[in-house]
Amino acid sequence: MKIKDLVRDNIKSLKPYSSARDEFKEFNSDMIFLDANENPHENGVNRYPDPQQTTVKKELAKIKKVKENQILLGNGSDEVLDLIFRAFCEPKQDNIITLPPTYGMYKVLANINNIEEREVLLTKGFEPSIKLILERADKNSKILFLCSPNNPTGNSFSKESIEVLLSTFNGIVVLDEAYIDFSSKKSWLKRLNEFPNLIITQTLSKAYGMAGIRLGICYASSEIISILNKIKPPYNVNKLTQKKALKRLLNIGDVKAEIKKILKERSRLIKKLEDVEYVEEIYKTDANFVLIKVDDANKRYAQLVEKGIVIRNRTTQPLCDNTLRLTVGTKKETKLLIKALKDI
Ligand SMILES: *Cc1c(COP(=O)(O)O)cnc(C)c1O
Repeated sequence: MKIKDLVRDNIKSLKPYSSARDEFKEFNSDMIFLDANENPHENGVNRYPDPQQTTVKKELAKIKKVKENQILLGNGSDEVLDLIFRAFCEPKQDNIITLPPTYGMYKVLANINNIEEREVLLTKGFEPSIKLILERADKNSKILFLCSPNNPTGNSFSKESIEVLLSTFNGIVVLDEAYIDFSSKKSWLKRLNEFPNLIITQTLSKAYGMAGIRLGICYASSEIISILNKIKPPYNVNKLTQKKALKRLLNIGDVKAEIKKILKERSRLIKKLEDVEYVEEIYKTDANFVLIKVDDANKRYAQLVEKGIVIRNRTTQPLCDNTLRLTVGTKKETKLLIKALKDI
């Protein structure tokens, strides 16, 4: 499979916008900058940000053990996913495959971009149905979305399933690893170089505790990254975000300590949930949330809101009848959640 053959013709021939900072890159140098029509009075953000987020990528590359040219950063994962759609999917012609129940943005982005979305349900054990996926795929199937650990089910897909799909699906495989830092399974990042069609997305929104700054990450071959770089908005990650992200990455120990705490709290939460009489099932989780099946999800959801606790009702999702998704909070929040669950 050649990546080039998967790219839309208009993107292949696109001449990207060239910003002032693309044409003169040494923005940290001692020059007088009169090239971007900025206000010259310093206030910390009067200058445009680095369009390539060089320092953030350098640190990330070190932590994740990938090359800097294998990274693209975006305004949240959502922007990164949208760029992938726009690079590979021709509106009204191509299609993508998703595996519900899963993250809702893949479908929304397909709809926005006028791309057909083909759904192949996960099995009852929440694993990909490999045979059905390959049957539904045709020559216009450009992207397969795998979310592992999956939202909202919480489980990771087996290594074997992912491996088979990576080597047999004739298009791009986007592996969404938004929750990988909570997982007992290893990231697929270390195998990035083995699969030219693999794109891995991660985010600073979950384990890194930075949902507010909007930083999504895409890892892929340098070939794919250079295609996405061509179409991204020139200054898509703002200066404040880059600054905050860098600081957090330089204190990666703090992140790891928080992940440890959350995982400990997750175990405690699961144990306590076992004592709630109307909780019929607690699904195995590899993420910072727990999916549970209850007697009546709509009723329990409303009762919890009444008590001031907001969780996610997933009962309308396929295979998720009467399920609720609970994010792991602090020790105090777990205590209040369990008390509320028992009181109702
Ligand atoms: C939360 C989440 C994301 C993160 O999206 P951002 O735009 O980076 O905040 C991505 N994928 C999944 C499956 C998620 O649950």
